Amino acid sequence: MKYKAFLIKYAEIGIKGKNRYVFEDALCDRVAEKLAKVADGFEVVREQGRLKVNCPDVYDYDEAIEQMKKVFGVYEICPAYVIEDASWDSLTKGVGEYVGERYRNTPHTFKVEARRSDKSYPITSPQICADMGEYILNNFSEFKVNVHNPEILLYVEIRNYAYVYSDKVKGLGGMPVGANGHAMLLLSGGIDSPVAGYMVSKRGVTIDAVYFHAPPYTSERAKQKVVDLARLISVYTGPIRLHVVNFTDIQLAIIDKCPRDELTIIMRRYMMRIAEHFAYEKKCQALITGESIGQVASQTPQSLIATNAVCTLPVYRPLIAFDKQDIVDIAEKINTYETSIQPYEDCCTIFVAKHPVTKPYLNIIERSEKKLTGTIEALVEKAINETEIIEVSE
Ligand code: ATP
Ligand code: MG
Repeated sequence: MKYKAFLIKYAEIGIKGKNRYVFEDALCDRVAEKLAKVADGFEVVREQGRLKVNCPDVYDYDEAIEQMKKVFGVYEICPAYVIEDASWDSLTKGVGEYVGERYRNTPHTFKVEARRSDKSYPITSPQICADMGEYILNNFSEFKVNVHNPEILLYVEIRNYAYVYSDKVKGLGGMPVGANGHAMLLLSGGIDSPVAGYMVSKRGVTIDAVYFHAPPYTSERAKQKVVDLARLISVYTGPIRLHVVNFTDIQLAIIDKCPRDELTIIMRRYMMRIAEHFAYEKKCQALITGESIGQVASQTPQSLIATNAVCTLPVYRPLIAFDKQDIVDIAEKINTYETSIQPYEDCCTIFVAKHPVTKPYLNIIERSEKKLTGTIEALVEKAINETEIIEVSE
């Protein structure tokens, strides 16, 4: 059957008090942006506790569903039959048309679930269920009631308009991007950081990213892999401004002046500092990393103290307590895994010590870093000034 409308249910944004408009507006915009890829003429409007999508005459139903399934904040998508006038006669007529068209003479057991957000509507929800059930039984002899285990749950909702639907497609949940501020993702070519960006974005946070590369030690292909990953997550997060920082001279200076076993930690501290520079520049409220306790030497609790100590913004580490396999499962689901496992070198690994410190003392790291004073400032400034910004979108 051809649907002229979808009802979209959202989960958490319904409970946000005064902020509710911000959330609903963001969700309307995100859904409209996705549907614009399917066809012209979709219209997304608020409808008492739901969103309503008015569809154009011609569009691809499956494609529309697929697009809406990629919008954070969408809890359920319900292809709906809209009944403009909710008088009982017109309601029964509409429900009859829906059932006739959707189920065409096939026998089914059913139950009606009614909901009335318009409390001035003269019939209570239980009464709508009972009367509509009776109406269907009287008009569709192939239908039987089963209140405990029906094949079809027929939803009738009285809002600004009345709606009838029986199909529900699960969305991603979360909150619409744009509803909860802005953060800067440290995006490497690995498995973890794209997943971390996806997860924070799912809470409604807009995302930009920073990638550190070390040419000629890391290749153009390694950089392209990160651009590809940014593009893959941008399907969910929306457009990402990817800052590509040339980290080579900073790394070489650290190798030159600091103990080799502290290289990774000191390098990570400079990454955080530079990422934070761009975070402030882009008015972000946080950094995001893919760190997870104990995964590698630079992610032991002590190493995290040393890395965190240079940050003034909060660092969101959504994977901090995740096992690797759980991260891989999400990477597969969001389609980044195959790209992440392509074997291109990362700037973190090329000069890495055989036995990096796993329990760095902050005071020792800070003392080692002092040896960079006088050299590093100009290198950091140059790296920042020469950063390439790539606008990435799906
Ligand atoms: P990932 O799979 O995300 O690369 P990882 O297990 O390789 O993670 P590390 O190399 O220790 O872990 O990096 C930890 C985090 O630091 C990454 O998740 C990412 O957020 C950030 N990071 C590491 N290398 C880079 C890089 N070259 N550019 C930007 N961010 C980086
Ligand atoms: Mg990495």
